[in-house]
Amino acid sequence: MIAKFGVAGIPVNYKGKMEGFFDWLKSMNLNAYEVQCNFGFRMSEKTKQMLLESQKQGFYISIHGPYYINLGSVNSDVAERSVDILQKGIELAKEINCTRIIFHPGGGHENTEQGRKEAIDRIVNYLNTISSNIDMKDVKFYPEIGGKTANLGSLDEIIEICKKCDKAYPCIDIAHLHARENGSIKSKEILRSKLQYLQQQIPEKFKQIHFHAYTINYGEKGEIKHLVHGENMPNGEVGLPNLDWFVELLHEMNIEPWVISEAHDSQELGAKYMRDKYFENA
Ligand SMILES: [Zn+2]
Repeated sequence: MIAKFGVAGIPVNYKGKMEGFFDWLKSMNLNAYEVQCNFGFRMSEKTKQMLLESQKQGFYISIHGPYYINLGSVNSDVAERSVDILQKGIELAKEINCTRIIFHPGGGHENTEQGRKEAIDRIVNYLNTISSNIDMKDVKFYPEIGGKTANLGSLDEIIEICKKCDKAYPCIDIAHLHARENGSIKSKEILRSKLQYLQQQIPEKFKQIHFHAYTINYGEKGEIKHLVHGENMPNGEVGLPNLDWFVELLHEMNIEPWVISEAHDSQELGAKYMRDKYFENA
């Protein structure tokens, strides 16, 4: 097994018809695609067929759930609606042979240590209830690191969910991690230590890790905006996290993940950059 690289959503630079999209990705040697179901887990029959077909050609398909999934909310109506949404996602994933559902742990909690802890417990309970109530087949939950400091989804919170829920695996958005920690990933050593920590905490699940990797602008409260691939920060500093360090660590630590670029309006450039660098060092 080797790392897979791809994009989230259809990049603006792709002007063709949907039918040609996977050929376009293939022309850049990309082989992963994250479907963005921002407004709900639904898609046309035609799209489902295309996604099934793409997998026969070697593509790896994940789906990213809507931003309003909020299993940790103190409002039980909101949380229960999120359960329904996620269950629809599982049904859709099974239909298109997709094994990875990415979603944000959300907000709607009291932002204190106790409030966050309770919210994570609610998320764990809901995920465990869902997975015991329905046949998930090979579908797995991938709760993602949140970009804003107030959001649920710190590194430790993702670890906690993965430890307590059989079907949960880590989606590590290294840009969100950098942003929510006010620019923490300043060196390759720091990124290595974070990944090693994660590996020690959940060694088995770490083998099936999912990454989002791109550079990001952030402020006091965390994420401000995903940067365009190669773009500097507004103050002129080079955008971080550094993708070279990231790719080097995939080799050094023997990690074989799916890596999705969410670079602003240039996902394919970010993905291709990482992919080429990865294979150049292989
Ligand atoms: Zn996300």
